[in-house]
Amino acid sequence: MTSVAPASPHQAAHQAEPQDGTAPGPNPWQMALHQLDGAARRLQLDPGIHVRLANCQRELTVNFPVKMDDGSIRVFTGYRFHHNIARGPAKGGLRYASYVNVDEVRALAMWMTWKCAVVGLPYGGAKGGVVCDPKQLSLGELERLTRRFASELAIIIAPEKDIPAPDMGTDARVMAWIMDTYSMDVGHSVPGVVTGKPVSIGGSEGRVEATGRGVALCTRWATERMGIDLHQCSIVVQGFGNVGSVAARVLHEYGAKVVAVSDVAGGIYNPRGIDIPALRLYQQEHNTIAGFPGTKPVTNAELLELPCDVLVPAALEGQIRADNAGRLRCKILAEGANGPTTPEADAILRERDITVIPDILCNAGGVIVSYFEWVQDIQQFFWAEDEVNERLRSILSKAFDLLWERSEITEQPLREAALDLAVQRVAEALAVRGLYP
Ligand code: NAD
Repeated sequence: MTSVAPASPHQAAHQAEPQDGTAPGPNPWQMALHQLDGAARRLQLDPGIHVRLANCQRELTVNFPVKMDDGSIRVFTGYRFHHNIARGPAKGGLRYASYVNVDEVRALAMWMTWKCAVVGLPYGGAKGGVVCDPKQLSLGELERLTRRFASELAIIIAPEKDIPAPDMGTDARVMAWIMDTYSMDVGHSVPGVVTGKPVSIGGSEGRVEATGRGVALCTRWATERMGIDLHQCSIVVQGFGNVGSVAARVLHEYGAKVVAVSDVAGGIYNPRGIDIPALRLYQQEHNTIAGFPGTKPVTNAELLELPCDVLVPAALEGQIRADNAGRLRCKILAEGANGPTTPEADAILRERDITVIPDILCNAGGVIVSYFEWVQDIQQFFWAEDEVNERLRSILSKAFDLLWERSEITEQPLREAALDLAVQRVAEALAVRGLYP
């Protein structure tokens, strides 16, 4: 294989500072590159493959106008990046948040490449987003913003090219607007252009819950492997959105005791356990989890350090860092969020013998059921929820078992085992396809 790499892949890697918004934690792109470097070293990866993987293949930035309710025009910035598409069409979510920036999108796209590879989906990795605070927009503004953004993305998305999905700040309704806009432009319905849609327009049963369900399944399997009785387990969940609330609910159904949960405004704690179904109803009614009867308030920082068996970060990246990793009091860290743990924190957790179920495995349930949704849309043949959940369990458990066994044999943490497997699979695809021209 010909090597075309500069002395260090990072010479060619983008080093840009975040351009918009303020990233809330450590630079995720630097984290992602650091992880790739580790895998490259362990796998003795060809430098030409390494340098290709240390860059996103495509980076589309769009600045687009939206008419606001007061008649004024605002220009928003949106991104859609493809990290690597050697194994198939680009797949990944769209995030609406004021802190969305290029380095975050790059990192999340790279993690999508690894996630799809580690669970064996025929996809490459992508991510996108719009710099905006969706809570500050009216429904009409949100729809106009989404439809114009979808039009701008039409040059890059398509069922066989790039299939967006929900992420933080976006949901099934946003996916429906994107599907509709794209379909209007081409003149016929194209459900397979996005996943995470409402079931009424080609969404899949079980998709909304898939990521949280996958987190709960991985947690259950880890406790079984470690000889811990899940019924005796206490669980803390950071982030009570799509992923966190479903993970909490399913773990509650499995008989575990969820003792604390949080959202962006802070957390609630009851060491005797929280009634999760009742909390969901309370949240729908009050639009917050704060003040749920029988709980006491905790900050998000305090929540991460509460005593528990399993900690589930399900909000932002970079939450577990060198400055707090030494104070975590869990046995298992089940990463619902993408990139919640920095490499420095990883080293501390390893030393402290805390088992980390890495994001690219733990939260892969979402993209697995997105894959099912895309397959169902293309075939126009839809499955019952039981079938979706069973197929999800089957794919995820195969990946979990493989990685657990590999990590025991190689005495590596699960994250290293997962990254090595993923990078190896993508590198194989790149090598066998060769370099064009
Ligand atoms: P969401 O928008 O539905 O929920 C996010 C939750 O995090 C909310 O409760 C919000 O209040 C809370 N939050 C936001 N900022 C916070 C902060 N600074 N501190 C504490 N809590 C904060 O988003 P989601 O879809 O549940 O995604 C959560 C995480 O899971 C993200 O990292 C996302 O990339 C990842 N993820 C999501 C999916 C999916 O299918 N939705 C799939 C894989 C990974």
